[in-house]
Amino acid sequence: MTKEEQAGKGLAKKEAVKKRETSKKRETSNKKESMKKAPDKKEAAKKEKALEIIKRLKIQYPDAGCTLDYNEAWKLLVSVRLAAQCTDARVNVVVEGLYKKYPSVEALANAPVEDIEAIVKPCGLGHSKARDISACMKILKEEYGGRVPDQFDQLLKLPGVGRKSANLIMGDVFGKPAIVTDTHCIRLVNRMGLVEDIKEPKKVEMALWKIIPPEEGSDFCHRLVYHGREVCTARTKPYCEKCCLCDICGKNGV
Ligand code: SF4
Repeated sequence: MTKEEQAGKGLAKKEAVKKRETSKKRETSNKKESMKKAPDKKEAAKKEKALEIIKRLKIQYPDAGCTLDYNEAWKLLVSVRLAAQCTDARVNVVVEGLYKKYPSVEALANAPVEDIEAIVKPCGLGHSKARDISACMKILKEEYGGRVPDQFDQLLKLPGVGRKSANLIMGDVFGKPAIVTDTHCIRLVNRMGLVEDIKEPKKVEMALWKIIPPEEGSDFCHRLVYHGREVCTARTKPYCEKCCLCDICGKNGV
């Protein structure tokens, strides 16, 4: 073999090695790219599923709304605090007596805490609920002219108001986007497969913001409450056989 032939052979070998390396690199980068796209695909599928669930629940519960009675924003603030570990039905009865005696923000802000406690006791946790309601009404009176603030962060700063309550007020009182992650919502979205084994309310809320159209959030959560009480129950086995979501639900943990 001549020197030129030897040189040519060496060059071809180098080129073959280079080609192999380039194709390997391309393969790795394609793999990385498809791994990056996988969560997007998963999220898109969840969004699609969520839209279908929203559509069906709308048909099933056309008039679903808040089950706490109120005719003024501050009353919902009071009721939502009382509703912790208590049924909405009981809260609706208890607040009748409370508003009869203290019919305004100012009246409730000036009421002795012990008196509020005596009235709200049947809702449980009377002492802390009365303390929060009193402090909250005082802030409304002194800082907001007796009105309920319409900013999420301001609501969150009120005594006894957490993300769930603040979202409820934003959605129901101010008609703004809201995701209310109560016990029904958390149980149902996990079962349905809209979130995967997430139980912490804030994490569920954040996961749902990604897949639920903002304008649908508030009503969707109200409908979940109805569905959770009537069909996808917590204490008994859920009635999957009569559920309008039976064919698309993940039935996770059921
Ligand atoms: S199919 Fe069963 S688990 Fe799924 S939402 Fe309906 S009742 Fe709940």
